[in-house]
Amino acid sequence: MIASKRANDPVWTSIYAYAQLPAELARLEELAHNLWWVWNPRAHHLYKTLSPELWESTEGNPVMLLRQLSSEDIQRITTDAALMAELEAVYADYKAYIDEPADTERPSVAYFSMEYGLTNVLKIYSGGLGVLAGDYLKEASDSNVRMTAVGFLYRYGYFTQTLSPEGQQQASYEAQDFAQLPLEQVFQQDGQTPFVLEVPYSSHTVYCYVWKVKVGRISLYLLDTDIAQNSEWDRSITHQLYGGDWENRMKQEYLLGMGGVQLLTKLGIKKDVYHMNEGHAAFMNAQRLLDYVEGEGRSFDEALELVRASSLYTVHTPVPAGHDYFAEDLLGKYLGHLPQRLGISWGEFVDLGREHPGSDEKFSMSVFALNTCQEANGVSLLHGRVSQQMFAPVWRGFFPEELHVGYVTNGVHLPTWAAPEWQAFYRKHLGEDFIKQQTSEETWSRVQSVPSEELWDTHLTIKHRLIEHIRTFYGEKWLRGSAAPETTMSVLEGINPNALLIGFGRRFATYKRAHLLFTDLERLERIVNNPKYPVQFLFTGKAHPADGGGQGLIKYILEISRRPEFVGKIIFLENYDMRLASKLIAGVDIWLNTPTRPLEASGTSGEKAEMNGVLNLSVLDGWWYEGYREGAGWALTDKRTFTDQSLQDKLDATTIYDLLEKEIVPLYFNREGKAFSEGWVQTMKNSMNYIAPHYTMRRMMDDYFERFYCKLAARSARLHADNNAIAHELVGWKHGVLAHWDSLQIVSVSNDGHSIGSSGQRHTGSTETIQLVLDKGALSCDLLVELVDAAEDDKGQLKLVEKTPLRLIDSTGSRCTYELNFVQSKPGHFKRALRILPTHPELPHQMDFALVRWVALG
Ligand SMILES: *Cc1c(COP(=O)(O)O)cnc(C)c1O
Repeated sequence: MIASKRANDPVWTSIYAYAQLPAELARLEELAHNLWWVWNPRAHHLYKTLSPELWESTEGNPVMLLRQLSSEDIQRITTDAALMAELEAVYADYKAYIDEPADTERPSVAYFSMEYGLTNVLKIYSGGLGVLAGDYLKEASDSNVRMTAVGFLYRYGYFTQTLSPEGQQQASYEAQDFAQLPLEQVFQQDGQTPFVLEVPYSSHTVYCYVWKVKVGRISLYLLDTDIAQNSEWDRSITHQLYGGDWENRMKQEYLLGMGGVQLLTKLGIKKDVYHMNEGHAAFMNAQRLLDYVEGEGRSFDEALELVRASSLYTVHTPVPAGHDYFAEDLLGKYLGHLPQRLGISWGEFVDLGREHPGSDEKFSMSVFALNTCQEANGVSLLHGRVSQQMFAPVWRGFFPEELHVGYVTNGVHLPTWAAPEWQAFYRKHLGEDFIKQQTSEETWSRVQSVPSEELWDTHLTIKHRLIEHIRTFYGEKWLRGSAAPETTMSVLEGINPNALLIGFGRRFATYKRAHLLFTDLERLERIVNNPKYPVQFLFTGKAHPADGGGQGLIKYILEISRRPEFVGKIIFLENYDMRLASKLIAGVDIWLNTPTRPLEASGTSGEKAEMNGVLNLSVLDGWWYEGYREGAGWALTDKRTFTDQSLQDKLDATTIYDLLEKEIVPLYFNREGKAFSEGWVQTMKNSMNYIAPHYTMRRMMDDYFERFYCKLAARSARLHADNNAIAHELVGWKHGVLAHWDSLQIVSVSNDGHSIGSSGQRHTGSTETIQLVLDKGALSCDLLVELVDAAEDDKGQLKLVEKTPLRLIDSTGSRCTYELNFVQSKPGHFKRALRILPTHPELPHQMDFALVRWVALG
């Protein structure tokens, strides 16, 4: 008898036994559970000092670090008077910060996003969009804004990247143990039973745990469906960021928007303004509509007025393909119950997400967002314009440049992204209160008079730390993983602190053109191997697991980096994340960015460089289109010269090589016997002086209030006053206009009493009188009648040149006469027509009720 046949394998349950923290260290636990430490170098440093080894092994996670302290560690810490005093001091800073009352002057905001990049420790972000949202919350805290945010707590987060010896990207998804993260679970009133949010889907209920991340003074609530009450099918809703198929995406966006608003209601949180960060969150307005209709008994149209008046949609994508579209049957499966509850038809509901109502287009989240938000914006000046073009089909009869779609250029949270050494430098030279003054160019201008040595030394300290990090952290990793330790050794030996160090780090999406530098390898080889003026490149970035092209590019760069002529000169660093980003961007001399214009909506990594005296070499796209100043960095090709992308790539590559050889390298090494180049440091000063103040998150936050939040909150309050009197009136007015619009008739169009030929020739300076006689029929609204001049641009696209209103000179019964005395002022070839629009003083802008009647002049 072989007994072992019947034995089973051990079944383990995870038990974490933590050394109990003594009362005097309880504050460490409290501090660890507020992300305030992330952007406070002193708090950061405190945890690191507790145990440098644990800080490293936990990747800078103070919660985990505290759990792993040994009794000896605790003994050592509590008996270290200096350390305990530092703890008290940091805690006092924290308390002073946290206890500051919120600013009640400015409107309050609810902010929804699929991802938040707050710290590397919380793997709920993938890239720029998330980091932006994370920075935004930190700034909301610093600016004392009354903001509440909603997102997801992903079980597997975004992937960790490793590379096979052949250079193939390997994506690994590690399950997060939420108990080890700087967040807390939301409990019921008893403080013991987990609070469970029940979100009704059409056929069943999805249950969520709710977690709260304290971001300074701000709360971020995260939904988590990975709990036993849910089926496997639903547990996976919050497993991965941007993972799964379209149905899973639908389930996620339903949860974020609908569930998120339901959560705020459960928590008793109501805000003045609702801000959706990208179209993913647009269903928040579906739930808000329901709340007005079912909760308050409002009509759908009235609900729509109220929801729109308090909503802002920020788009981050410059191309339609980047938006989410859902097939009608998938939409029906999840939102099929909505129209009836809202009191509209299914067709009317789907049309809210279609560029062309009544067509068979898929349901677009961005169009739904545009139709349910009064305001919308892109994320840089250029992207604002691109977004107007992209969204033009939604408002027929208008020129893209007339649309209300605006912009706020993205910024970065300075205390997060400026290295601690720079922050100390700024406090010393710009003033103790420089954080408050961070958007003032005048304050930053003080760097001009700082001794250049001091600037340079600050930069070098950070650069050396980056090199040290590569040698130790990556060195060890490569030695462990590599079949050829000699190669790793020569890479490490090749790193030269005196070389001009150029960094490139971003997602390996095709449009980012990571390949550009490698267009002419011989020329590149000459640049990096110049013995007098050495240049080195650091590359990093992840490719989306489904993006074969991006992964191929990583492999290609890795192969090049292994060629003898490039070993140690071009280095690829695995697993670009926030931690690496902060070391890398602050530690290089130049930050390189080469997107295909205009596909970089904003980009923010270059702005992080600015806060660290690192100079940008970048295509004039996204934020750099506005940010670039001569003598403060370098710009590539203003204009898109070639329609053929490969020709454009060649041209841009040549420009990079030229700039490097003729300007950048000579400037960097023009040291005239000193340890550094005076000209280079002057360029650093210029970039800090003229660029840095304009790309902080503080400036971005202020812009959102100034351009959108205040306006929305004020109008929303107006519409809500007197039991929604104005909202009600607007609904009635819009109904009336729509009902009678077709009874509007053109009686006559004339010019000086004669009818105008369509191909009329004019002399400049000639005058004419244009008259339009209308019969409004049953239509009772006021009208705006405009003479519109347009002209074709060099791409053959019609652009608005001028619009001039006609005057109402007679109104008899339903017959109205409009007139314009008009001087032909400009020469040129124009297209000219009349346009009639209904007007109402309570319309926020014409796109709010985009009804147009064009009238031919001929
Ligand atoms: C800042 C940041 C980004 C965004 O940078 P881009 O300029 O948009 O490429 C992406 N990933 C990480 C980890 C970042 O820190």
